[in-house]
Amino acid sequence: MDIDNVTRRWHEVKDRLPAGVKLVAVSKHVPVELIAGLYAAGQRAFGENRVQELERKREALPPDIEWHAIGHLQTNKVRLVAPYVSMIHGVDSARLLEAIDREAERAGRVIPCLLQFRVATETSKFGMTEREVRALLESEEFARMKHARVAGVMAMATFTRDEALVRGEFARARELFEALKRDYFADDAGFNVLSMGMSGDYRLAVQEGSTLVRLGSALFRGDE
Ligand SMILES: *Cc1c(COP(=O)(O)O)cnc(C)c1O
Repeated sequence: MDIDNVTRRWHEVKDRLPAGVKLVAVSKHVPVELIAGLYAAGQRAFGENRVQELERKREALPPDIEWHAIGHLQTNKVRLVAPYVSMIHGVDSARLLEAIDREAERAGRVIPCLLQFRVATETSKFGMTEREVRALLESEEFARMKHARVAGVMAMATFTRDEALVRGEFARARELFEALKRDYFADDAGFNVLSMGMSGDYRLAVQEGSTLVRLGSALFRGDE
């Protein structure tokens, strides 16, 4: 990994992404020097999935980086990231959303969150069913939340070469996103994020309507 190659790949990916699709550079396991290099090239949104690593990197890097907590977040780690995190992607339970609401209030913030929808047959055991998502959005607890703001949906497809399967899973996530927008967020322009697509499948995700891709190895290792 050297910064010239990473920056070149970053430019290639950005050229390929349609306008309106946000790129979060997933920097887990990536040394701070490379993150700083990509920051210097202009990238501002970075994603991490482990709180300790996130904390360490945040302290070492410029304060205007937008940190995205991707992946599974434990309830007892929310307090650490609540003061600064830009978005929490993997909200997979009402309990986690309640913890975020509480800690965001303590921190005097409103934190945009994405509900993780389980579409994959195998890749991840995390994520809610449509029924669970709807139950959460219809609950009194949710109605009372003022500091955890639901900004959209996140999904991960099955890790496979079967393009039809992956495409179908992304289409399912898009359908849920549209249905939730219609049923619960029709007047809320802030419900506008469909986070799907990683290095191996982001082209399909974008074709199926993704508004935010989370790319690690395609940028930092050249894998696609
Ligand atoms: C690691 C990770 C990514 C990035 O994966 P790549 O295949 O390296 O692009 C995206 N989303 C989540 C939730 C991850 O944990």
